[in-house]
This record gives sequence, structure tokens and C-alpha cells, in this order.
Amino acid sequence: MSVDRIRPFVGGEFREPVSGQWIGNFEPATGSQYSEVADCDSADIQAAVDAAQNASGKWAATGIDERSSWMHRIASGIEARLDEFAVAESKDTGKPLKLAREIEIPRAVLNFRFFGNLISGSATASHDSLAGLNVTVRQPWGVVGTISPWNLPLYLFSWKVAPALAAGNCVIAKPSELTPMTAMMLGEVCRDVGLPPGVLNILQGTGARTGQAIVEHPSIRAVSFTGGTRTGATIASTAAPMFKKLSLELGGKNPNVIFADCDFGKMLSTTVRSSFQNSGQICLCGSRIYVEQSIYDRFITEFVAASKKFRVGDPMDPTTEMGSVISDGHQEKILGAIDQAVSDGATVLCGGKPVRLEGRCSGGWFVAPTVISGADQTCSANQDEIFGPVVTVQPFSTDDDAIRMANQSRYGLSATVWTSRMDRALHVSRQIETGVVWVNGWLIRDLRTPFGGMKQSGVGREGGWDGLNFWTQEKNVCFCY
Ligand code: NDP
Repeated sequence: MSVDRIRPFVGGEFREPVSGQWIGNFEPATGSQYSEVADCDSADIQAAVDAAQNASGKWAATGIDERSSWMHRIASGIEARLDEFAVAESKDTGKPLKLAREIEIPRAVLNFRFFGNLISGSATASHDSLAGLNVTVRQPWGVVGTISPWNLPLYLFSWKVAPALAAGNCVIAKPSELTPMTAMMLGEVCRDVGLPPGVLNILQGTGARTGQAIVEHPSIRAVSFTGGTRTGATIASTAAPMFKKLSLELGGKNPNVIFADCDFGKMLSTTVRSSFQNSGQICLCGSRIYVEQSIYDRFITEFVAASKKFRVGDPMDPTTEMGSVISDGHQEKILGAIDQAVSDGATVLCGGKPVRLEGRCSGGWFVAPTVISGADQTCSANQDEIFGPVVTVQPFSTDDDAIRMANQSRYGLSATVWTSRMDRALHVSRQIETGVVWVNGWLIRDLRTPFGGMKQSGVGREGGWDGLNFWTQEKNVCFCY
């Protein structure tokens, strides 16, 4: 699809931005600009809040079955245009089309279906006593905000928007201005299925301008944010004095702990994916790999060989395993982090440089899968999020060493443990300080389970009832005897 300008979706229609400001939108696999995206300001946010407030009373009063049915209609609307969505997502992000088509856009569909089903099962708690009957009701906040990043654009956008809408809120949602296309298409779907105007408003623009205006607006009562830890801190400092409800899903530096007793073949192929899927730009990628000493040399040999074979190429080519990174600035940041690791005494075992492709993608921003060894635990390569196709590998001797090294981080999002011993799996996963642990696998998600980080990886949990309940306030009504 080709669109010249990506406009805000406010009150059920696409409008010119009040700000009158536009930013270039690039295809990272080619390095070329292919459209412009609005850079909305506080006046745009005010227009969206007005539209949302107009719709809010009626939407909150809509029956649960009807809201559930809207979620399914939106899901079907995306599904009907699945190929178009997948191409747009791949073009905006540089990720392989196959990944967008087979995993990420279907997951966005599932997000709407999942919360459409979950809301139907919601119930009201009651507590009877000699003094009275307490009934605890959950009420939507009214107008709420969501801010999501560029790495899994529609997947994470819908992961917030779907439960917020299902719970009865009207939403002001900001996608990353680097990847605005599929959010705009979702606006088209909502318009085409007839979602009442003002229920979902999509405002594109930069974080400092559009995002900040959402967080600052006094009528936006709750905000759910996914992005970097530093941005999360800025958002928290703006929202806290206004006593807004906040959910923060932030960065990670995830440990991948590999014991000698694991299923080596399964571990190896999964570790290649958990290191380099989406060019390592998934908050759940394992970026610090700890390997038991007795299999360290074998692991290095086989992992480096497999990493070198991981096929970097045009995202539209079905044989491509890894596409580009998101921007020229991000490519520079990743390459800078690799240079820093080398200055700090580490060794690059493979990759470490840009990949230059021929033809259509000759101007694209690609980085080779990179494996680094010999980085000290405390150096930047092991402590700071790189968010690219870069992993460090280090040996460990005992279970306690592995746990200590895994926890030596200010982050605590996810971890992976590879072992065939159940007692070890239980002990290590209990000791690791992360909100999510996978044993003998990676990125297996059951949407009913809580998802979120410990330490500086976030506050709150998304998914299941946690995800839905965030979007309501509890009120206890006591009928006194
Ligand atoms: P950023 O923190 O830079 O941005 C995230 C979103 O916030 C973007 O839409 C951004 O807009 C916006 N934003 C930036 N500044 C502000 C502000 N002051 N007020 C309000 N909004 C603002 O993260 P990235 O987009 O670079 O995403 C990558 C990060 O996201 C990584 O750290 C990654 O770990 C994390 N992440 C966490 C996940 C989790 O579930 N825990 C999942 C996926 C990613 P703009 O694009 O204009 O900067």
C-alpha cells in the first residue's frame, strides 16, 4: 500500500494535524523515505480528548457482550487484510515479512479476540457479613492513554488498546512515529466496522511532543507505556504528581543460563532465535548468555557457526531470517556499543559490523549477528541494553555462580534456563530476579499469564486479568444491614 501522509485518527475520522507538523517516515531496509507522519501536539491531544469525552459515557455504559463483539469485529477486520498489514509492518520496521505475517499480525488479531473473550468472563466480587453485604464493582477510568514502541508495532499497540477498550474506556493511543503505518490501518478498520467515533483515537508523533502531551493531560486518567527505562522514568516523574495510574513495561538485559545437562540441539537452535529474532530488537531477547564451563568451548564453536549462517537479507525475501534494524541512528548506537565492548577488552567472535546488501536494500540499515566473548560482567556490554543483534557469552562453574551472574543487572524482565534436571530448573528459576522465566524454551506466551518486569524493567503486569483490571477502578459498595 502507498500512503503519502499518515494523519491522526480522531473522532472516527482521519484529520489534518492541528500542529501542522510532519516528520519523514522511512523504510529501514532501503533507507528511503516513503511517507510523512503527523507530529501531533497538545492541541491535537485536546481535540482527541474532546472526542473521547463525548464518546465516553455511552461506551462505558455499553453492555459487556456488545463490547466483546466489537473486539471480535475489529479482530476480523485486521484478519481480512492480514497480508496488507504484514507488508506494511515489514516495510515500516525492516523485519522479515514472514515474521510479520505468521506471528506478529496474527498476535494483534488474537489480542483483540483474547480481551473480547476475557471481558465476557468478568465477575463482581461480593463479601457478606453480619454488618452488611459488600459488592465490589469495577468501573472504567474514562479517557486513558497508551504509548507503545516501534519494535513490535501493532502487536504491542493492540496489547494495550484492546484491554483498555474492552474494559469500557475511550483511548488516546500513540504508536512510535518510526512505525505509524499499521496503527493507521487499525484506525481504518475501526472506521470501516463502525466503531463509535471517539472511542479509539490514534495520535502519531514524537515522544517529546505527542507522548508528553498525553502524559500531561489532566483528563487522561491512566497511562500504559512500553519503551525504554529512561523514558519510563520521565513519564513516571510527570504522571506521579497528578496521581495517574501507570503501567510501565521497560527495557531488559535478559540472561540465558545454559547448563551442560540440557538438550543441546534444541537449546542451540532456540538460542540463535532468542538472540537474533527481529534483529535482537525484542525486549525478551536473551542478550547475556551464560554457559556451564564443561560445554563452553563446544557452545562457542557451534553457536558462532550458526550465527554466521543466520541469513540477513531483504525483509520481503521469504528466505531472509533477519532484516534491518529500525533506523540509521539505531544502527550507529549498536555499532558504537560493539566498539565500546572492544575498548573494554572484549573480543568479537562474529559480526560486529554493518551488512551491505546489493540492489533494493543497498541503502538499508543492517547489522550482522554479533557474538562477543570476554566482556567483564560490569562493563557496558553486559549492563546496558543494546537492543540489537548483539549477545555476550560467558562461562560459569556452579549453579550459584550462574544465579549471581544472571542477577547482576539493574534490569529484571525475562530469563531463559536450559537444563534437563527438574530440581535445578525449579531452584534457578525461583532465584532469578525477573518477571518471566522460560525453562527449556523461549517466547512461549499464554496470554492469560502475567507479563512484566522486576527492578528497572517495569512496574505492573500486563496479560490476563492483570492486563484487563489495570483499566478499571475498584469501588466497594456496602449495603448495610
Ligand atoms: P522509547 O522509550 O524511546 O519510546 C517508546 C515510546 O515512548 C515511543 O512511542 C516514544 O516516542 C515515546 N516517548 C519517548 N519519550 C517520551 C516522553 N517523554 N513522554 C511520552 N512518550 C515518550 O523506546 P523505543 O521506542 O526505543 O523502544 C525500545 C525500548 O522499548 C527498549 O528499551 C525495549 O526494551 C523496550 N520494550 C519493552 C518491552 C516490555 O514489554 N517490557 C517490550 C518492547 C520494548 P518516540 O518514538 O518519538 O521516541
